[in-house]
This record gives sequence, C-alpha cells and structure tokens, in this order.
Amino acid sequence: GNIADRVIHGVEGIGAGFSEAFFEPVIRLGVTGLSRAGKTVFITSLVANLLDRGRMPGLRAAAEGRIVSAFLQPQPDDTVPRFDYEAHLAALTGPEPFWPEGTRSVSELRLSFRLRESGLLGMFRGPRTLHLDIVDYPGEWLLDLSLMDETYAGWSGAVLERLEGRSEAKAFLAAARAADQQAELDEVAAKALAAEYTACLSSMRAAGYSDCTPGRFLLPGDLAGSPVLTFAPLPETGGRAPRGSLRREMERRFEAYKAQVVTPFFRDHFSRIDRQVVLVDLLGAIHAGPPAVEDLRRAMTGILGAFRPGRTSWLGGLLGMSRVERILFAATKADHLHHTEHAKLTQIMAALMREAKDRADFAGADTAAMAIAALRATVEETVSHKGGALDCVRGRLRADGREAAFYPGELPDNPAALLAPAREGAPDWLGADYEVMEFAPTPLTLRPGEGPPHIRLDRAAEFLIGDRL
Ligand code: GDP
Repeated sequence: GNIADRVIHGVEGIGAGFSEAFFEPVIRLGVTGLSRAGKTVFITSLVANLLDRGRMPGLRAAAEGRIVSAFLQPQPDDTVPRFDYEAHLAALTGPEPFWPEGTRSVSELRLSFRLRESGLLGMFRGPRTLHLDIVDYPGEWLLDLSLMDETYAGWSGAVLERLEGRSEAKAFLAAARAADQQAELDEVAAKALAAEYTACLSSMRAAGYSDCTPGRFLLPGDLAGSPVLTFAPLPETGGRAPRGSLRREMERRFEAYKAQVVTPFFRDHFSRIDRQVVLVDLLGAIHAGPPAVEDLRRAMTGILGAFRPGRTSWLGGLLGMSRVERILFAATKADHLHHTEHAKLTQIMAALMREAKDRADFAGADTAAMAIAALRATVEETVSHKGGALDCVRGRLRADGREAAFYPGELPDNPAALLAPAREGAPDWLGADYEVMEFAPTPLTLRPGEGPPHIRLDRAAEFLIGDRL
C-alpha cells in the first residue's frame, strides 16, 4: 500500500461497465487482535453499519450524505476464505441473538462504495467507486514475526526464561527438562512435548497473557497435527546434538515453521495491507492484573515492530516499498463501563501505545488509540448506593439470561498504576464484579431512534478510511 491508490487492472465488479471497472481504487483494511479481542463482532457490526448508514454520524462521508450506496461484492482473492458476514449477522440479529464463533484463520470481505463529491463538483461528476477489502486475521500470527530473527536456541532460551515461575507452565517446564534431547527422535515423545507446550500456552492465554509464540499452536488453521507444529522449546544442554536426535529435529521443525508458515502469511496477506486496526481486550488484561498488562504492552511493541520494518530486516525485504498508512489501537467492549470511565480507558490505551511506540522505535504511519464497543450489549443506569450514586451498566447475562446492573469498579487516573505489582491494600482494578460481566448481545437493530448500537465505531471508521471516502 503506497499513498497512491492501488489500481486494479481488468474488468471487475458485477454490473460495472467496462470503462469504469478500470482504475477503481482499493483500500485493504487489516483487522487483527488476539483471540476473543472482538474481531468477528467488529467486522460484522462495521459492515452492517456501513451498509445501513443511519447510525454513523462520526463518519463524515455518511453525515454529509456523500455515500450514494454501499454493497458487498465478490472479493478479489479467490483462494482466501470469505468472511462469513451473513452467518455472523444472523447470529447477532436473530430473535435470540448470540455471539458468533470468533476468528480462527484468515478471511476476507469486499465492501464497495459509490461516492459523490461534495459541493459543485458533485453536481457535475458522476459518483466514483471505492472498494474496501477487509482482511481478518489472528493477532497470534502477527506475533510470530518475532521468531524470524531468532534461532531455535535463542527462542527456546527466551521462552523458557519467561515461563519460569509461572504456575501455568509448571508441567511443561518439567517435561522439557526431563526430555532426552540426544536420543533418537521418537514421534510419540515429540508429540507429547508439543501437546504439553500447547496446553501451557492456552492456560497462559486464559490467565490473560498476550505474548504466546508460536501463534499457530493456539490457532493452527488447517495445520493442526502437522510436523511443522510438532515442536517445543528445549533448554540448552551444550554440545552438538547428533543427527536424527530429538533436539536436531525440533530445530529443523522450528526453521520449517518460519519458512513454510510465517513467511507465506507475511508475504501473501500482511504485506498488502494499507490500513490496520488492532483490537485489544484491554479491560480483560486490566482485570487479569499487572503481569498481563505488562505482557500486553510487550505484545503491542512486537506488533508495532511489524509495521515498521527496517529496510535491512527480513520483513523489510519482503515488503519492499509498501507501507501501512494508519494504525488504530482500539480497546474493545467499552460497553462494560459507564461512559464516565471511557476517557480513562482511552488514556490507558494511548499510554500503552506510546510506550510501545517508544520501545519499537516506531515512526511513520499515523496512529490513534480509542475505546469502542462494536456492539453495545448494555445500557447505562445510575443506582443509589449507601447514600451516594453509582454509575452502572445494565445488561442481560449470557449464563442465565438474568438482567442486572453492575458496577465494575473504577479505572486509575494514572495508567502507570496498572503496571505496579499489587501490594497489600492496593486497589484491585476491575475486581469481582467484572468477572461475571459476560453479557449476551442485545439484538443488533439498525432502526433509527433507538440509540446507537455501538460506541464510537463511526469514529474508528473515520480514522481508518474517512480520508478516502
Ligand atoms: P475474535 O476472537 O477476535 O474474533 O473475537 P469475537 O469477535 O468473537 O469476540 C469475542 C467475544 O467478546 C464475543 O463472543 C463477546 O462475548 C465479546 N465481545 C466482542 N465485542 C463486544 C462488544 O462490542 N461488546 C460486548 N459487550 N462484548 C463483546
């Protein structure tokens, strides 16, 4: 993606005349974030709200009435799965709405706009066409970039050091230490080690940690069970392991993973992105505690590093001149908090982003931080409590369908407080109540006059694509 519009050569688009099908500009919007960050809900709601633009006042082109029409079209990439928009929308808009299945792999959807110029120009010129190709992919896969500059020994050392002392890693660390690395490879033993490591990564994710490589161990796509995913980090034992030994084979598979899994993903998908939104379950990390927030910051540094590769780096060579122009870090599920807390959530997101930018030595693309909810599942309510007033949110619980008002607690004014280890008597940010706040989706109705079905989704869209509409 350079600044100049991408140009499509060829006749494309159903119903488009031959002449106008040439030179139609395309924006490729990447949507990523770790599992359960909210990618599927974000894309579904974004597309629904763009198709039916009554509820996007913060999107200038929509507010100014310059979007003549928006419609879905066949995507340009024939071998990439299509984002299953209709099924996800049906889940969210049915009589008994439920959350759709989240992102497991890469998928794509093309939304096309017919746009009118404003003012006099619009009276003389016919509408122009712009295609928005939305590319959904797991954030776990992006974190794999950090493997590319690593050797197996270097990666193993770093991972094992980070796992040290974490209760979730106890069983795997014991198995890794006990492994006979010099012995001839036994596929059953290799598989058991890889399974133990995968279990360790899953429980780390469940405990709120973000930095879990290799990403395909958690989201294998169609590679589950293949040798390229059957390895694990092992401690350095010194000396060269013989050919055919467990250690040599683990080394070999690590290199195969880089060459045959990570490289194609960056070459085929990542390298063509113009705009990127990174969705972050920041509330979940805050709830999990300071180590999880620190881990999130580290993961964000890694992600930003991917968007600003040095010319001499591996990725720089792969990307050539292409460049991502805008990156939005959006804290999702802001509807868990009363709007009086939203400014603080945005500030925390911005502070984490600033730190990640400094550490990744990042410059270039425009960046922004926001707090959003792609699909609002709550309404606000102020409840009197012990003579005071508590700003709550009310929603229907997914577990038992009960409707209730919750006070999830307060966020700190100073984002640094989130990184401080909890001491005796220190506040527990987003404590007990947050734990049970698993809301069912409210029906996604796009009828006017019912209050916006999202929080700042229009602002997010304005930052990501507004300049091109
Ligand atoms: P993905 O794994 O990144 O695709 O995440 P999903 O889009 O599947 O979202 C994961 C879960 O987060 C959903 O099942 C919902 O429970 C929750 N979620 C996502 N977006 C929202 C939102 O805007 N509001 C609320 N309250 N919950 C959300």
